[in-house]
Amino acid sequence: MISEVRETKQKEIQILLKQLDGLVQIKGLPIFPEPKTGNPLWADVRELDLRYQIPVKKVTRFFDELGKGKIMATKCVKCNTIYFPPQDDCPKCRVSGLEWVELPVEGELITYTIISVKPPSFSHYPDYVVGIADLGEVNVTAWVQGPKEKLKVGAKVRLEVVKREPEGYLTYSLRLL
Ligand SMILES: [Zn+2]
Repeated sequence: MISEVRETKQKEIQILLKQLDGLVQIKGLPIFPEPKTGNPLWADVRELDLRYQIPVKKVTRFFDELGKGKIMATKCVKCNTIYFPPQDDCPKCRVSGLEWVELPVEGELITYTIISVKPPSFSHYPDYVVGIADLGEVNVTAWVQGPKEKLKVGAKVRLEVVKREPEGYLTYSLRLL
């Protein structure tokens, strides 16, 4: 499934690049209107294939637990700050080797936004909702899933492990209850 998405993306990119070539020849500038808003976008004519690589050695436990359906955070034993996504250092106390704690999973939606104009690398997803939930000890930013009619500030949500499709990797999201 992911290879199909990749192929479709590649075709879209090829079409875009051709249009961009035409545009530069006509106008002398790679500026085109964003399809949804019509706002002018400047497109870099250099091709960039970017793949994020983030070191996760110190937080591998997060991914191990995610596979078991648990969502973990880290806690500074000195100042009790909870970090989510987890990190191994507390910048306030300048200490490393934080303690692992399981996050409370139920909370309330503080705010949300529906993403309909997406960054190019997210353009293959249907419109999605990003929200911030208050889980008591910590606020969590994540995609929000569930029926649209339940989507409101103050809505009850549960943080849960989900599979992000079509890529098929494990992640977490907030489900409207
Ligand atoms: Zn601390």
